[in-house]
Amino acid sequence: MIQPVVAIHGGAGTMSRASISPEQEREYLDALNQILAAAQAVLARGGSALDAVTEAVTRLEDCPLFNAGHGAVYTSAGTHELDASIMDGATLRSGAIANVNCVRNPVLAARCVMENSKHVFFVGQGAEAFAREQGLEIVDPSYFSTPARYEQLLRVQREQPGAAVLDHDGQAMVAGMQPAAAPIDPDRKFGTVGAVALDAQGNLAAATSTGGVTNKQVGRVGDAPLIGAGCYASNATCAVSTTGTGEMFIRMVASYDVAAQMEYRGATLEEAAHSVVHDKLPRIGGKGGLIAVDGQGNVSLTFNTEGMYRGHARVGEAPVAAIYR
Ligand code: ASP
Repeated sequence: MIQPVVAIHGGAGTMSRASISPEQEREYLDALNQILAAAQAVLARGGSALDAVTEAVTRLEDCPLFNAGHGAVYTSAGTHELDASIMDGATLRSGAIANVNCVRNPVLAARCVMENSKHVFFVGQGAEAFAREQGLEIVDPSYFSTPARYEQLLRVQREQPGAAVLDHDGQAMVAGMQPAAAPIDPDRKFGTVGAVALDAQGNLAAATSTGGVTNKQVGRVGDAPLIGAGCYASNATCAVSTTGTGEMFIRMVASYDVAAQMEYRGATLEEAAHSVVHDKLPRIGGKGGLIAVDGQGNVSLTFNTEGMYRGHARVGEAPVAAIYR
């Protein structure tokens, strides 16, 4: 008898009790718990893993605390460029979009690409036109803007003009706390959201969505919309969603590597996730973490940064959310 489970993340980075007030901490934990409960409810009424991750990521995109959808970070030009992906572990169908700035919920556009097109990946204007055709909600780009993220951009541009900074590292800066290795280097920058789930039928799914990294160069795309890098799901192994220095996650094909280690060397989910996050990514300077679930309902929430907004919820049990190590 399968006990369905969903896990989510809201990004990893420099986050310590010193940079987050008790009120902010409460706000983050409440948001994570509410989103977990909503996705858990989908699974509890017999919904699919695909529907559960769609529900979770849509809500994470709508929540301004996280760097995806409303509350996305800014490019160096003061604009937003959003990326998202989704994958169905039962069929290996997948969909992704990159570099859009008018689709309210990028994960829904990714899902439409998967279900209603014969392609996997749309970018830029073509992705936006496709989303319009699909009848998805279109918003003015200012919808994604929040004062907190703008302040982050100005701060990064003032203090480290050439750098692109992970969302939660940027927040730590605004709070007056230098991310551990000051000055900020271009490799320290995350805040993406994601979800993975196992449903009662034994199917796995994953989804990831992001505004990218603060002060990124216009046109830059990270790992989040790349199947195998920022998102992967196969019923044969596991479902994975990542957050962190996207360039390194792409080079390490991070999500797929978790699945490959399980398939090729018989690693457990935890062993494979640990190897990618604590061994392979650090070798090339990769910082961040991932969430993963396998067909037995094992869950891994692993990161090599100070913290990662994260949580999981099994059907029939209370959701569990956490921020720090
Ligand atoms: N991985 C994302 C990117 O590189 C950033 C993040 O995780 O916050 O675009």
